[in-house]
Amino acid sequence: MDCLFCKIAAGEIPSKKVYEDDKIIAFYDIAPQAQVHGLVIPKDHIADSANDINGDNSSVIAYIFEKIPEIARLMGVASYRIINNCGDKAGQTVKHIHFHILSGDNLSEKLV
Ligand code: AMP
Ligand code: ZN
Repeated sequence: MDCLFCKIAAGEIPSKKVYEDDKIIAFYDIAPQAQVHGLVIPKDHIADSANDINGDNSSVIAYIFEKIPEIARLMGVASYRIINNCGDKAGQTVKHIHFHILSGDNLSEKLV
């Protein structure tokens, strides 16, 4: 599968890593949209998007959320926004499920 985030998870494409273990990896977004902008992904391509979350793969998604506070701490932030773009019309460009962690002073223009 020609998947950018699978290649980052495999170390075939370099990334600025924040956190890594056997299940997930977090790294800084290459085109940050906030002062701090990280991404968290499952290492395995368990889902293209949130539409594919099911009982077989949701434990990894739960694990990501268990780890997000630690990942945020490693990025030096305690206040942050978590975003998941699901589908083309929602702006999803990489079809390997991922969660954006955004923080900084420029989050005042709220979408929600
Ligand atoms: P999305 O638009 O929700 O699918 O998010 C994909 C994100 O991946 C975008 O914010 C991109 O800037 C980011 N991105 C694309 N290529 C890379 C890369 N090589 N390393 C880090 N982030 C990337
Ligand atoms: Zn993938």
